[in-house]
Amino acid sequence: MFLSEFEKYDWGAVKRGIYSKTARDVERALGRSGRDLEDLKALLSPAAAPYLEEMAQLSQRMTQKRFGRVIQLYIPLYLSNECQNICTYCGFSYENRIARRTLSAGELLTEVAVIKSMGYEHVLLVSGEANQTVGVDYFVKALDVIRPHFAQLSMEVQPLETEDYSLLMEHGLHSVLVYQETYCRGEYTLHHPKGRKSNFEYRLGTPDRLGEAGIYKMGLGVLIGLEDWRADCWFTGLHLRYLESQYWRTKYSLSFPRLRPHAGGMAPKVVMSDRELIQLICAYRLVNGEVELSLSTRESPVFRDHAVRLGITSISAGSRTNPGGYAVDLGSLEQFEIHDDRSPAEISAMIRRQGYDPVWKDWDMVLQTGG
Ligand code: SF4
Repeated sequence: MFLSEFEKYDWGAVKRGIYSKTARDVERALGRSGRDLEDLKALLSPAAAPYLEEMAQLSQRMTQKRFGRVIQLYIPLYLSNECQNICTYCGFSYENRIARRTLSAGELLTEVAVIKSMGYEHVLLVSGEANQTVGVDYFVKALDVIRPHFAQLSMEVQPLETEDYSLLMEHGLHSVLVYQETYCRGEYTLHHPKGRKSNFEYRLGTPDRLGEAGIYKMGLGVLIGLEDWRADCWFTGLHLRYLESQYWRTKYSLSFPRLRPHAGGMAPKVVMSDRELIQLICAYRLVNGEVELSLSTRESPVFRDHAVRLGITSISAGSRTNPGGYAVDLGSLEQFEIHDDRSPAEISAMIRRQGYDPVWKDWDMVLQTGG
């Protein structure tokens, strides 16, 4: 399990290691192929900032070589905003006095119709953590309702057991996103004071359970703004390396959400600039030519237009972050405010202007089920 690997590393020592990297370390990392986790430290470090242009060019070349000139499009579908956890950074946090809603089968179909009319074939199902009402039984029913309408179904819900993931895969689940939020234990405890999510180790073990279930793809990441982003993103890289060696049949993606305004909002402890986010995207690409890199509507239109050429392989568009947000209940409270509110058609046109092709699916469940 990753926990035993994770415990070999000390947060403070990793952070100091990153900040002590020099221009020479960065140049050595840039000059190598088959870059390792020490190279990742160098590329994430402040010493790499003057090398951003070179990193961006390399990242672009590596991405085009592996993925071609295509950007996959996906859209989130919020199933529920019920949640038993207190997370300091989230609009759905248990103590926030908001109207709670879980979509019925009929409501799901209403949302599906709108999403389909936008052209989507890949939908990401999202919920809070309310195991009594929005547990595995609910997810099975939701997948059964939604599955006939899409080529690819992903989920971003509470951590589950291995056998739960196996069951959900039988009902059409293709990929799961599970973000550690932060790998700094002390800060994690501070931001997750109540509920099942306060169990750092259970969350840390979730990708192992997904790997054991044989999930087709899983996504990792941290919430940027909770702690030092360089150290947190290095630990994400460590986690990815471990998982790739253990569960080599699974595909992987990384995301890098920056904390956005939300109900009951909290200011980020650490602010990451746009240049630093580009540095991160390029650093991830330079140490891993295979991993998919995903960018959500949390980021601004200007930033996203720029980033699609530098290593990103998938983006969302037209997103709503509230249950019923596409048709059923337009005014319900969002999990967080999106920044890029352009329509899928506008994003698609933007991608083409950049010389890339928008792709609405990269997987078809016909392949998964054999017909
Ligand atoms: S981040 Fe997830 S678990 Fe935490 S309060 Fe929000 S919906 Fe609930």
